[in-house]
Amino acid sequence: MKTVVIGAGIAGLVTAIRLREAGQDVTLVTKGLGGLQLGQGTLDVFGYNPDRVDSPIAEVEKVAAADPGHPYAAIGADAVRTGVEYMAGLVGGLLEGSVDENILLPTAVGAMRPTSYIQSSMANGACTAGKKLLIAGPEQLKDFYPQLIAGNLARTDLPGGGRVEARSASFSIPARGTEADSSGLQYARALDRPEYRRQFAAAIKPLVRDGETVGLPAVLGLNDLNAWRDLQDLIGAPIFEIPLPPPGVPGMRLNQLLTDLAKEKRVKVILGSPVLGGTAEDGRLVSVTVGSTGHDMVVRADHVVLCAGGFESGSLELDSYGVMSETIFDLPLVGTDIPEPTHGQYWGDPQPMFRVGVKVDSAMRVLDAAGQPVYANLHAAGGILAGAVRWTEKNGEGIALGSAIAATDAILGGI
Ligand SMILES: Cc1cc2nc3c(=O)[nH]c(=O)nc-3n(C[C@H](O)[C@H](O)[C@H](O)COP(=O)(O)OP(=O)(O)OC[C@H]3O[C@@H](n4cnc5c(N)ncnc54)[C@H](O)[C@@H]3O)c2cc1C
Repeated sequence: MKTVVIGAGIAGLVTAIRLREAGQDVTLVTKGLGGLQLGQGTLDVFGYNPDRVDSPIAEVEKVAAADPGHPYAAIGADAVRTGVEYMAGLVGGLLEGSVDENILLPTAVGAMRPTSYIQSSMANGACTAGKKLLIAGPEQLKDFYPQLIAGNLARTDLPGGGRVEARSASFSIPARGTEADSSGLQYARALDRPEYRRQFAAAIKPLVRDGETVGLPAVLGLNDLNAWRDLQDLIGAPIFEIPLPPPGVPGMRLNQLLTDLAKEKRVKVILGSPVLGGTAEDGRLVSVTVGSTGHDMVVRADHVVLCAGGFESGSLELDSYGVMSETIFDLPLVGTDIPEPTHGQYWGDPQPMFRVGVKVDSAMRVLDAAGQPVYANLHAAGGILAGAVRWTEKNGEGIALGSAIAATDAILGGI
């Protein structure tokens, strides 16, 4: 059987890898990189609804039962648990956590963010009352402000009561030569090298007081996943990474591991080419059309999994007349009956348009207005599903991974 997966975000990569592991012929077509690198490199299953969520899987079960319009209603809690654990297994020890309990981690503005799975390099950042933190970063790094982070952390009441003690420090070490303004990626590449790690540790070590845990920007190595452990040994105190605003190094690590795995498993990847549409016969898609230089390419398919994301990746569009559309197959969208798809309050409520997307059944097949599959073999997963504001609810990865499992199970089960 041949499946075409559209999109190379977390949903598309995991779908493609899982189908290949089951022996399917898989072609992944993507117009560009997915959103993994824009995230924090963690797996969010449910963070807020609207209050902070302690047990993400319990919240998935609650929402699945109470809100038929939410993606979790079609996906179900079992697929979410399987998907998140499958993903953690794919990246071999990089991620740790549980869907049963959220961990609270410091952010780049010194807030505390609930998430399910974190990278091991972040684990020492879990905040407990009385914990002594030193937040430190290189002066040359953009987008990391130790004083802001430490100040906000020190004045935040912890859920169980009490506060952390936090202070800040800066040190001077350019990522390259004498560069005065370096990005996180430049530091991460430099910290892949043991000799640079020694210099970096030597700059931090004198700043650390007894009993302190050191919070550093999440740039502690890109390809060397043990770079942070080496740095911790060199500094001689527990350390942890704090993710920076996007694009972020922890997300790049996940993206790199999944992309490498897809190649290793021999997923056929067509990169840099958009899917423009498809051809149907007897209610099934039989091929997709891929735009490429000079001529379009037709790729035959027994199944298609649409993992093309939402508005942020161009899979959904809002035109200047307020009309919303799905840009590849012109699929029916739900949630479009809203008077104003967007509002002008940037810091206000979530934009109403972000709940718009496709509706699916439990096999993740895209449904029409009558509740029937549009095509018997067209499944959808990830950000294109209607009914959630993923970055507000903090459930983007849970939805992507749960729907990837539900779609692949359906295909492998012969649906
Ligand atoms: C800035 C930002 C911050 C976020 N923060 C959070 C957060 O804190 N917590 C959270 O839970 N979620 C967050 N999200 C949402 C989360 O990142 C997404 O829910 C998740 O990445 C969706 O994954 P996906 O695989 O469905 O789609 P994406 O990662 O968007 O990937 C879509 C893929 O489809 C490809 N594509 C699109 N159109 C075509 C086409 N015509 N042909 C071929 N390929 C196509 C794209 O190139 C891309 O590779 C954030 C999103 C953004 C943008």
